[in-house]
Amino acid sequence: MVSVVEAWGTALVGGWPEWIDEPLRVGDRLAAGVLGARPGEVVVADSVTVNLYKLAGAALAAAPPERRVVVADAADFPTDRYVLEGVAAAAGSRVAWLSADPVAGPDARLVAGACAAHPGQVALVALSLVAYRSGALADLPAITAAAHDAGALCLWDLSHAAGAVSVDLEAGGADLAVGCTYKYLNGGPGAPAFLYVRRPHQAALVSPIRGWFGQHDQFAMDAPWRPADGIARFQAGTPSILALAAVDEGVALAAEAGPPALEAKGRSLTALFVALADADLAGRGFALGSPRDPARRGAHVSLRHPDAWRICRALAGADLVADFRPPDSIRFGFPALYTSHVDVWDVAARIAEVVAAGRHESFDVAHTRVT
Ligand SMILES: *Cc1c(COP(=O)(O)O)cnc(C)c1O
Repeated sequence: MVSVVEAWGTALVGGWPEWIDEPLRVGDRLAAGVLGARPGEVVVADSVTVNLYKLAGAALAAAPPERRVVVADAADFPTDRYVLEGVAAAAGSRVAWLSADPVAGPDARLVAGACAAHPGQVALVALSLVAYRSGALADLPAITAAAHDAGALCLWDLSHAAGAVSVDLEAGGADLAVGCTYKYLNGGPGAPAFLYVRRPHQAALVSPIRGWFGQHDQFAMDAPWRPADGIARFQAGTPSILALAAVDEGVALAAEAGPPALEAKGRSLTALFVALADADLAGRGFALGSPRDPARRGAHVSLRHPDAWRICRALAGADLVADFRPPDSIRFGFPALYTSHVDVWDVAARIAEVVAAGRHESFDVAHTRVT
């Protein structure tokens, strides 16, 4: 990170020959260390929202004309639902929304059923691997296989999974994926996202954003747009080199610890939290909003409570930062890299203390802009 700032200070704009392939180099390190992908299949660029638009748009444009249905989760993260709906509308397609169990999330049977309801018409199945609200971990190989059986591609949003659980895109048969680097990969606020395209699909898929960073010969300024070979074609415009340097550090930390170890510790931390919640919080109006089986969840746990918003505010006042997710969930993240079992114990004790003392009752019921 420091060396990038120094290089900027001395080389100025002359640093670009060194920097220009950073999105691909950091992508390769993320692929190998965290995602179970091969070199040349991942690039770090843009935001999850933009990457989802690029990949879903490319998949629909490449699908045969009779495949006009996208299967997606009605309870997925808002940006995912908005983008998929917009991309589908622009392609003359529509979204068939799954309504899964709110705690367990979608499974292969539900996906197969939705595909069977539109025989020969599904172009794309797009889901999150770890649900942002409940933390449910989907079965990537089984759901991907269900999509393939229906002749569709499968796109995974790994935002809450990358760095939290073991991901093996290669072994799982995934076609496409997107995800952020600012949650469990510690890339920093607003850090650039990543996208993955399995190599055999790359030549057939073209980004709907035709930017100069995806151009075959980027500096042949007058040439018409022709997509670059390989994953580079999914880039759009100039990357933030400072932001990439921070992502590189975050990815290196996760890769050094290793996703299996991160997953194992994440399960141990969340299991302790669930046990403490059962023992100390269930009698105070809290209910578990996450799967009970540690193997079926990522590294966060949601507790549901009718007064979730005010409790969340009171916890912030007690130095405990959790996320309120309407209507009634409080989400606690347990990133394995820097969370200890003692921290989990302290968190559960502090929640019990705040609620027992009724400290949340003095907070306003009106929501703030960022929850
Ligand atoms: C965090 C998150 C996002 C964020 O998208 P941005 O474009 O980076 O703001 C998108 N989807 C899911 C599932 C997320 O968890």
